[in-house]
Amino acid sequence: MGEYINVVETFGCDVFNDSVMQARLPKKVYRDLKKTIEEGKELTMEIADVVAHEMKEWAIEKGATHYSHWFQPLTGVTAEKHDAFITAPMDNGKVLMSFSGKELIKGEPDASSFPSGGLRATFEARGYTTWDCTSPAFVRHDAAGGTLCIPTAFCSYTGEALDQKTPLLRSMQAINTQALRLIRLFGNTTSKKVTPSVGAEQEYFLIDKEKWMQRKDLIYTGRTLFGAMPPKGQEMDDHYLGTIRQRISAYMKEVNEECWKLGVAAKTQHNEVAPAQHELAPIYAPANIAADHNQIMMRILKKVASRHGMRCLLHEKPFVGVNGSGKHNNWSLTTDDGINLLEPGKTPHENIQFLLVLTCILKAVDIHADLLRESAADVGNDHRLGGNEAPPAIVSVFLGEQLEDVLEQLINTGTATHSIKGQKLETGVKTLPDFMKDATDRNRTSPFAFTGNKFEFRMVGARDSISQCNVVMNTIVAEAFKEACDRLEAADDFDLAVHDLIKEYASAHQRIVFNGNGYAPEWAEEAAKRGLPNLPSMVDAIPALTTEKSVKLFETFGVFTKAELESRAEIQYEIYAKAINIEAKTMIDIATKQIIPAVIKYTIVLAESINQVRSAGTDIDVSVQMDLLKRSSVLLRETNEAMGALKEQVEKIASVPEGRERAVFCREQVFRDMNALRKPVDELEMIVDKEMWPMPSYGDLIFEV
Ligand code: ADP
Ligand code: MG
Repeated sequence: MGEYINVVETFGCDVFNDSVMQARLPKKVYRDLKKTIEEGKELTMEIADVVAHEMKEWAIEKGATHYSHWFQPLTGVTAEKHDAFITAPMDNGKVLMSFSGKELIKGEPDASSFPSGGLRATFEARGYTTWDCTSPAFVRHDAAGGTLCIPTAFCSYTGEALDQKTPLLRSMQAINTQALRLIRLFGNTTSKKVTPSVGAEQEYFLIDKEKWMQRKDLIYTGRTLFGAMPPKGQEMDDHYLGTIRQRISAYMKEVNEECWKLGVAAKTQHNEVAPAQHELAPIYAPANIAADHNQIMMRILKKVASRHGMRCLLHEKPFVGVNGSGKHNNWSLTTDDGINLLEPGKTPHENIQFLLVLTCILKAVDIHADLLRESAADVGNDHRLGGNEAPPAIVSVFLGEQLEDVLEQLINTGTATHSIKGQKLETGVKTLPDFMKDATDRNRTSPFAFTGNKFEFRMVGARDSISQCNVVMNTIVAEAFKEACDRLEAADDFDLAVHDLIKEYASAHQRIVFNGNGYAPEWAEEAAKRGLPNLPSMVDAIPALTTEKSVKLFETFGVFTKAELESRAEIQYEIYAKAINIEAKTMIDIATKQIIPAVIKYTIVLAESINQVRSAGTDIDVSVQMDLLKRSSVLLRETNEAMGALKEQVEKIASVPEGRERAVFCREQVFRDMNALRKPVDELEMIVDKEMWPMPSYGDLIFEV
């Protein structure tokens, strides 16, 4: 049953964390580095040299032979280039192991092969990776041996962000500055820093590797492009929080251990709604570390699955008709001395600072709902949002009964005088302890839900980086804080001014609050009446990046330049068109080489059966075989026709101008024809002899892991 580990000793054992630094670095170096980490003080090369040397010594003790600047370009996955620590051989033919401050701080991968959305011509290939000392380095062990991974930001020669981390760090600076202004107004003189805290719950599917290998669609695109629903789906709700089977438990145990070694505080695991679907959530951390940890976690989920003869699917919608996977991004603002600005306390109506923070967030989300929606735009997520399993593609805020009531008091009477209290939970069983319920129930259908002392943004796709939504949240809230502080700092009577401001924001942005069922079709109508944007697909969402409003927002806070935003929009369009192109070509490949031949074989079997049965006696009934033969032949023809149509579309893709136009073409034409091809094929799957069907069915994939 495997051996047990000592969690306390294991946790962070492969991380160059604070305690390692404290133990190994000279006192002065440690203090200076801490100043850089905590206060953003510039790092000198002398300090960097000492840190690099100690980091190398430590990494070698951990078995590392290489170091790697680890970064997150806009390809959607992490990138790394490995260098051995060795120096050129000396006269005696031996080598030394070395690692300098310069090598720690700066790397220079060839940037030309990473998407830049026109920011840089390919001949200007220079790009730099820069050490993010606020996210600790770690030694990763895998088939390549030990590698010292150094979290880095990735920028072009001229300083434009080419990655996810750079804007995230910029946005964290912006929210820090504005949040400090806000708490100073309320008399806080001691906190030195405000950091967005983020905890990302990660959903995933596990399927058998042998079966995965027989599905070209899963291999090439991460999702099934064909597949009829099995007789049983998730309607029995018997998987959610169900007993975790031994094969999966063994997997989760190893995932946790690998996470813990790398300092990822994997905490909560359970079965999810769909068969074969699971979830893992870590304890929250500062936003940039949480984003790095989420990437580490996704990699571990995949790597460990492979060791257990399984594949981990992180696609947002691997199976049509079965719940897809997302990520819930829990977000709050924490001071360095441990105060959570989103903590309402027992009597939120008296907590003026909280009410200001809350109404600023409402304002931010209302004004920039389109940007938040865009931050969750991902090709796979289009299949999920609005599909009665994830929030709709309309951003709204769930506050719950207690806060909504406070807000209404504010709007109606100008002051809030009471807060609805949590009631005692009485089960009617004497031996069960009674306890106080939360003042508010949950709402699982809301994209942006207040959950006690944090907001949970529930739109993010399972594969996507969480950086984008946090960049947006940090920046839009920074803007709202700034506007509030500008007014309050200038006010003669602070108490009066803050009271008016809270009321003003609550009234002006009340339309973004929705506590009802986000899955109900009536909500789309109601939202339209309220003037809230409804952006069903990624292609509809991308333009939000480059509106005048967006450019002004991001430039004001130094998070993105206009050129960076335009490049990001370009990259998004490109990613969309490429993904659809690959999916369409994969469908054609599977239909041509696997499905049509299988159906032809099946029709031959039917035809032979008809002939043989008939020759055995003319009065024997062959109507069943005849019906099947007729039906399969019709569907076969439909398949072939649909495939011809799809092929034509795919051939046209290259001639449609790149960028938005091509993405729209893929969304409107190619995607439609993909669905048209899928239809007859899925019908055929229900008819054709299972032995002859060329790939595992949905039932095989999700019920037999
Ligand atoms: P819930 O049951 O409300 O979903 P959990 O306690 O399960 O909350 O936490 C879900 C995720 O939210 C976890 O990753 C957790 O660490 C994170 N989280 C909890 N409190 C905060 C907070 N104040 N700020 C950010 N994330 C938080
Ligand atoms: Mg949650």
